[in-house]
Amino acid sequence: MNFAVLFTAGWVLLPCLFEGVVPSDGDSVSSRHKITIIESHKDGPTVLVIAGIHGNEPAGVEAAKRIAGWQILKGRVIVLVEANPAAIAAQKRLIPGAPVGEGDLNRNFPVDEHGCHPVGDVATELWQVIKEHSPQWLVDLHESINFRRVDPQSVGNTIIVCPNEQTLAMGQKLVDAINKTITDESKKFLLLRPPAKGSFTRAAAETMNVNAILIETTRREPLETRVKQHCLLLERFFRELGMLEPEEEQQ
Ligand SMILES: [Zn+2]
Repeated sequence: MNFAVLFTAGWVLLPCLFEGVVPSDGDSVSSRHKITIIESHKDGPTVLVIAGIHGNEPAGVEAAKRIAGWQILKGRVIVLVEANPAAIAAQKRLIPGAPVGEGDLNRNFPVDEHGCHPVGDVATELWQVIKEHSPQWLVDLHESINFRRVDPQSVGNTIIVCPNEQTLAMGQKLVDAINKTITDESKKFLLLRPPAKGSFTRAAAETMNVNAILIETTRREPLETRVKQHCLLLERFFRELGMLEPEEEQQ
């Protein structure tokens, strides 16, 4: 029997009421991030899906909301729909009011030989989330301005992996799967590596050995197309990990 249960942790669903609450492991709790935990109650990988690091990239946020309603066969999925709530509310790439040079949340995770040193409150809270859940996999949803195959300065329609044997194999499978749905050669996805220095994915891979993947759709496509591409890629991703039935459709 497939016994998959979806629940949302109360202390993160009600951040105002529970601000300052300390969970059993003694770590402080993020007060601004809503987190959904999809629990299968069967052994398997822990996956963190994160969206909205850049506030002007709504496709990932919408896709993450849908993914938060999926059920899985094994392991657990942590879904962080709005990583950068103030920027999402403002529909801006950068954190509103952040000091100069600290506005791009996806550059606020610098790494040195001692580990990652998050810059600013939002990055610090996100780093707390990943430390708390210790995922084996991290998938970060973004969107870019133009198609990579059209504009080499842009990263639209790419899968960007922090390279290791597992992420490279997974990344190629995802590229192959999504490209079967795209007829226009100029819009086909490419596999790139690695994500930018200072990014959440790169810091997680370098300091916590997380298998980290960043997905970039392209804003030139309609929003619903981008959302569906994120969902299709995540569906394929979970199937590869045995967390969804091979033939199951969950969109
Ligand atoms: Zn982005």
